Amino acid sequence: MSTLEIRDLHVSVETKEGAKPILRGVDLTVNSGETHAIMGPNGSGKSTLAYSLAGHPKYQITSGTVLLDGADVLAMSVDERARAGMFLAMQYPVEVPGVSVSNFLRTAKTAIDGTAPPLRTWVKDVRGAMDALRMDPTFAERSVNEGFSGGEKKRHEILQMELLQPRIAILDETDSGLDVDALRVVSEGVNRVREKTDVGVLLITHYTRILRYITPDFVHVFVDGRIAEEGGPELANRLENEGYDRFLTSATA
Ligand code: ADP
Ligand code: MG
Ligand code: MG
Repeated sequence: MSTLEIRDLHVSVETKEGAKPILRGVDLTVNSGETHAIMGPNGSGKSTLAYSLAGHPKYQITSGTVLLDGADVLAMSVDERARAGMFLAMQYPVEVPGVSVSNFLRTAKTAIDGTAPPLRTWVKDVRGAMDALRMDPTFAERSVNEGFSGGEKKRHEILQMELLQPRIAILDETDSGLDVDALRVVSEGVNRVREKTDVGVLLITHYTRILRYITPDFVHVFVDGRIAEEGGPELANRLENEGYDRFLTSATA
């Protein structure tokens, strides 16, 4: 059982004109086994939240706390966060030329577990997970994300999640740019990990579409760098019908 506790988080981003405040007091608690959807319009700060939790150096925490089972996440390096069980699937996964998917996954798994996984079970696990995500086996020998299609990048992110088995997974717009078939495959992957493990999921999305496949326990509406409204899955249905207009008007009023 793990708990991620975000308290009054304020974050600024480095720009040429200086530090620009983006997150303006985020409060959120994610427990093992829970799925929290973070929904909100473009530019509301969803990716900023994801990057801040992952430890991206461009994002400055100006105040607030983030605790994972009481440990100060903000004091941890990026590697320490991963070893503590935090995982980020990025909205725009980066290319790693010259590093094969297979080596990348094994290196990450070894770093997180502290020991290399036994080769025989590992190869079987990787094959099984790739198969389930309908990834061609030749993928394992390609450079990470180099020349991958949008859908292939997102499958690769979920492949990592399946193999690394994080305690808290932050999925930033894993649904964006996917056709319906890919969306289903990717969602099934997330659901498999939810069933097999006790992962807590922060599912960041602009659209309600993925929530038809992955049912959230809680929905948080993110507007202008903070949570504007919270509810259960029914809130997603409401957003599907009404969009974000009502929040945008109140935010600028
Ligand atoms: P979302 O993921 O909800 O679309 P982001 O977190 O990407 O929102 O962005 C929130 C705001 O912060 C936007 O106004 C965006 O332009 C700004 N922002 C984010 N990252 C940077 C950056 N590296 N440089 C300048 N502005 C940024
Ligand atoms: Mg984003
Ligand atoms: Mg579960």
